[in-house]
Amino acid sequence: MFRQDTKRARAVNSRKANFKATKFTPQEYPSRLNFYTVPPTAEITLDEFEQWAIDRLRVLGEIETMQMRNRSQKEIETEIKKLLDERLPLNPNPVLGDPEKMAQVQAERKKDHYSHFIVRLAFARSEDLRRRFTNAETVLFKVRWAQDEGTKERVDFIKESGVNMEQVGEEELQYLGGTLSSMNPKEKDWFKVEWDRVPELVAQRRVFMKAGMAYVPVSMQGSFFETEFRERLEKALELTARALPSLDEDDRLIPILNHLSLGFSSIDSAATTAPTSIGELRADQIDSLLPYFPLCMQSLHKNLRKDAKLKHFGRLQYTLFLKGIGLSIDEALVFWKTAFKNTPDDKFNKEYRYNFRHSYGLEGNRRNYKPKTCQQILTENQPGPQENHGCPFRHSSIDSLILQLGSMGVTERGIIENVKRDVEQKRYHIACNKVFEHVRKAELKPLGGRLQETILTPNEYFEKSWNLVNGEKIQQVVKKEESQ
Ligand code: SF4
Repeated sequence: MFRQDTKRARAVNSRKANFKATKFTPQEYPSRLNFYTVPPTAEITLDEFEQWAIDRLRVLGEIETMQMRNRSQKEIETEIKKLLDERLPLNPNPVLGDPEKMAQVQAERKKDHYSHFIVRLAFARSEDLRRRFTNAETVLFKVRWAQDEGTKERVDFIKESGVNMEQVGEEELQYLGGTLSSMNPKEKDWFKVEWDRVPELVAQRRVFMKAGMAYVPVSMQGSFFETEFRERLEKALELTARALPSLDEDDRLIPILNHLSLGFSSIDSAATTAPTSIGELRADQIDSLLPYFPLCMQSLHKNLRKDAKLKHFGRLQYTLFLKGIGLSIDEALVFWKTAFKNTPDDKFNKEYRYNFRHSYGLEGNRRNYKPKTCQQILTENQPGPQENHGCPFRHSSIDSLILQLGSMGVTERGIIENVKRDVEQKRYHIACNKVFEHVRKAELKPLGGRLQETILTPNEYFEKSWNLVNGEKIQQVVKKEESQ
């Protein structure tokens, strides 16, 4: 399924010999809807393997979060559109069969197909992961089903899907013409199915019945196909779970799959390095930016100012965050030296300077460390006594959390109750997103008062907050400069 490097290929030659006669043909995707019954067989690179899965997980994570926030299916369909276009576009067949557009459409469907199977591998390993995957994938299927409203592609999918459903032919349509059109005058495509497979429609008397068959128009088949999709996926995941042990010998895939299965929302590394529109920062500007920081970073900053020091993991979490918002290493050293005002110069240079430079990839293994995601902060290096790192929504007591929220101006009873409920249900980043919407409610008003996409990292929180307040002003200045 993915391309092997030469060294590895030699090592698995004996296993490959068993499949010598196997010829894999490229798959065709006549419709963008997919039941994912046939596993992919063509080669892809390891980079594609990981990136495609990350893109799908970003979409599934957003769906899961929207559900936690009680969004209706209609709201999910509208709000997920932008993210789908960015990460997992799936365009309909071009009208005139333009070969170039057709190739692009096939490439999109291939990515959709492969990414589904990769994430299925990662999420088959526990009952909880299987349940979450099935749930989010089923919602995604419903989103796509809705996008195909009234199209020939949906009809083709139904015909090719392998479900026991027969399209009502022209002759029978004419014979039943009056009856069917009086029930649903706009429908041209009708399918026959055994009546007990659509019990809801039968109970509501919404379908025509004859000889044990229900006559269902395409527009009413959504819930039937949703159930079919869910049941097939549940069964397929059980089978995948049983086959997983045979993967253990593959040391290229296991680390990637382990990483992917950490969670829907933990793998979005791209967002953590996105440049901010704020540009290069100076050390003396940090205090003025505090209102744009999420609670975790406000807490670190305030403790740093209070104690004139921070313990190791707090320094690391805050350094990487500041690096992500545009603080250069030179300015970072000025910032930390000033903040550690009670620490003598030689002690600072001996004990701390190296670590700050290390975080910027200038010492030791010279790795360019990325700012931490919420998932990493929530799950790694739990803070002990006297430590201030971590996520206040998870690692502070409720009383302390309410005090911290109060210090950022969040005191309204309604929002505090909401936060308490989310924290009790361990939905920490949802609570943080609600706080964001509360703090930025004036700026979000033109957007319906809601974030368009869930925030998954402290740096995203900062960028969105800062851009909401300042983005408009900057654009006005740019426009003014351009017009001069
Ligand atoms: Fe920080 Fe993320 Fe926790 Fe918000 S949810 S406080 S951004 S770690």
